[in-house]
Amino acid sequence: MDEFDLIRRFFRRPAVRAETRLGIGDDAALLAPPPGQTLVATVDTMVAGVHFFPDVDPAALGYKLLAVNLSDLAAMGAEPAWVLLALTLPEADSDWLADFAEGLFALAGRYRVDLVGGDTTRGPLTLSLQALGWVPEGEALRRCGARPGDGIYVSGTLGGAALGLKMLKGALAWRDEAAVERLLRPRPRVELGLALRGLAGACIDVSDGLAADLGHILAASGVGALIEWDRLPLAAAVRRYVAETGDWRLPLEGGEDYELCFVLSDAAAGKLARRLPETGVAWHRIGTIQKEQGLRIDKGGMVIPLPPAGYRHFRS
Ligand code: ADP
Ligand code: MG
Repeated sequence: MDEFDLIRRFFRRPAVRAETRLGIGDDAALLAPPPGQTLVATVDTMVAGVHFFPDVDPAALGYKLLAVNLSDLAAMGAEPAWVLLALTLPEADSDWLADFAEGLFALAGRYRVDLVGGDTTRGPLTLSLQALGWVPEGEALRRCGARPGDGIYVSGTLGGAALGLKMLKGALAWRDEAAVERLLRPRPRVELGLALRGLAGACIDVSDGLAADLGHILAASGVGALIEWDRLPLAAAVRRYVAETGDWRLPLEGGEDYELCFVLSDAAAGKLARRLPETGVAWHRIGTIQKEQGLRIDKGGMVIPLPPAGYRHFRS
């Protein structure tokens, strides 16, 4: 099986979108976003040993590679449309590729995303995916529009992925399948991102941990925030972990939940509640934007400053 057989066998599928004028097979793809829309583009790379265990289920890997990119599009309020896949593989293992493609296309099908191109090379296992979508001109959700008095919200629950990672590393004496699933198969909040168009003053996806990612909104908007520990939405396993260990920072600093964190004025929150059925996910108010810079947390009546944290490559 050479490079071209591999692409044909595992990755070339008929396009589902009319906007896909030409997909895999030529030197480049031809894509036609609808008139009046701005193209939204993002790329994420996952390196074996850095972002995933080399022996992880390839179907979960294909799913997650797409999910983390769709999460970035969701955080911009974009509708996903296309992806390009750059694969660096140590060898062409048919079983591995079939599973990887199955995981990727399962999620792609759910959002009618066409795989329209890519690159295939030999080398240490590295997966890179670029996602493209669109948003009506001027309606993208940015990080820079949070204003004092706005409510701060998150979707779903926090800390599950970080707890799942501790479990996979064998750091705990018990295991919770839902937490591990959170880590391996995060759900991109695409529908919520679309529902937030025209409502959210700022939005980000929680990939590096709530404190770090909310910190980006605060920095970009030139504001601060107070969040309340008691309001953080936590899965039962995360509550149990915090109760047993006292590690209350996990839901704030643990990464990879891929929830959306966003800010709304009170009027906008009312409107979002009326759009709720479209969003398909719970969302909770966790705090308030303040004029005073910095991020603070109210923990049982004590206000504690939270320094910006989170994983950073190249940090010495
Ligand atoms: P070129 O040499 O012109 O860059 P390639 O020979 O690398 O093109 O790829 C041939 C076609 O297959 C192109 O349309 C390219 O986008 C597509 N392609 C290559 N690798 C992948 C991949 N891993 N997934 C999807 N499409 C791919
Ligand atoms: Mg070419």
